[in-house]
Amino acid sequence: MADTSYASVLETRCLVAGAWEGAGETPVTDPARGEVIAHVPHLGAEAAGRAVDAASAALDGWGAEPVKARARVLRAWYDLVMANRDALAALLTAEQGKPLAEALGEIDYAASYIEFYAEEAKRILGEVIPAAAGNARAMVLRQPIGVVAVITPWNFPAAMITRKVAPALASGCTIVLKPAPETPLTALALARLAERAGVPAGVLNVITGDAPAIGDVFLSHPDVRLVGFTGSTAVGKHLMRGAADGMKRVALELGGNAPFIVFDDADLDAAVTGVIASKFRNMGQTCVCANRIYVQAGVHDAFVERLAAAVRALKVGDGRAPGVQQGPLINMAAVDKVEAHVADALEKGATLVTGGKRHALGGTFFEPTVVTGMRADMQAACSETFGPLAPVFAFESEAEVLAAANNSDAGLAAYFFTRDLSRTYRMLERLQFGMVGCNTGVLSSELAPFGGVKQSGNAREGSHHGIAEFTELKYAVLGGLEL
Ligand code: ADP
Repeated sequence: MADTSYASVLETRCLVAGAWEGAGETPVTDPARGEVIAHVPHLGAEAAGRAVDAASAALDGWGAEPVKARARVLRAWYDLVMANRDALAALLTAEQGKPLAEALGEIDYAASYIEFYAEEAKRILGEVIPAAAGNARAMVLRQPIGVVAVITPWNFPAAMITRKVAPALASGCTIVLKPAPETPLTALALARLAERAGVPAGVLNVITGDAPAIGDVFLSHPDVRLVGFTGSTAVGKHLMRGAADGMKRVALELGGNAPFIVFDDADLDAAVTGVIASKFRNMGQTCVCANRIYVQAGVHDAFVERLAAAVRALKVGDGRAPGVQQGPLINMAAVDKVEAHVADALEKGATLVTGGKRHALGGTFFEPTVVTGMRADMQAACSETFGPLAPVFAFESEAEVLAAANNSDAGLAAYFFTRDLSRTYRMLERLQFGMVGCNTGVLSSELAPFGGVKQSGNAREGSHHGIAEFTELKYAVLGGLEL
């Protein structure tokens, strides 16, 4: 049965230079039903080149707009996203699979970046600085970096876009966006609303198609000054290497491998709630998902019992059905990875507590799973599972768990639960991660800088820090003044 709940926001063409173009060639699949719901264009290098040229041509005009005009356009976009919240969320669930309640939450979250940067546009400040000579005056201007190429993943089809596009627009940049092939429809719907909000032709371009070919144009076209990317560490490294020749800036948000630490003195119920929020949001497909759950020996068994009960209670199904908390995974490759991580852990001596196999619903559904007896040499300890597997490691001391938590190339998010204030400070300061949550499993907010250290990335998105990626400083000195 056709789903009409998102018909009002459905757009299947791409936006280049203010024109909607391209025939539907590439299928978009609803992962819950396994049905093709739309086709989008398969564009390549030629269209990417035109899109960058269009963004380049639009740059001076958009940058010269009074800042309050840019802010008004952003605000209008925010209002339209919120006015179309239900249809956007329905579309998001249809192409991505997350439960409708989470999709609504993501639309609100995505919109919050547009709202925030509509306001922040008015606070992109330069500086007046002391001049080196008496007859001179000096200042620092903060100017848009130029054309921004944005490449986004499928796990947050709306928020990963607005988190980059809104600050770019606020800064006076123009954009070419390439959304993930799994979830292009939310991107195209957002672009439609941006156009209606008054984003001028060429300022925001969206193309779907051949990712490597489009990516190569982003790297080789001299007018692209920043490549903003959220996705896998492998592709992030490829982009960073490729950006070197053109000395382009790269803003990368890459994979995580988040530790989630429960100390003996933690509020166990709060910690279980935290794990469920962190681990099982989006079926475990977020880069800040708890990936290694460390539980201190004194509370280990009690914690596992409560966690297993909470995990068994999670309702799995089509994200559109009432009360569903776990939808399908994005594709079979994701299912294979979770399955492989479970099998590897069990082979190496871990114990299955609940779940552990493909769900009876079939398709890409997987049972929410808990295993205990995890060790550092198991696959689920070394790389992101990106699925509904909660692997529990037992530990004895704070020093031991701190070393284990930091023993990773990734450095995105970390969590710990304790009621000891001194330990809280020790952990906050010593965990080598870009974001740390104490006594909470939820971190993200448009008000805070999101980003990682080590191989998890080099950028911050959200808050006033998020403007830095999209702007450049220019030092200007006025000499020979008669003062
Ligand atoms: P995932 O494995 O989660 O899909 P990817 O890093 O492969 O993560 O994908 C994230 C985004 O990067 C998607 O939009 C994808 O199309 C894009 N992408 C993948 N390969 C390349 C590439 N070689 N150049 C540019 N973009 C790419």
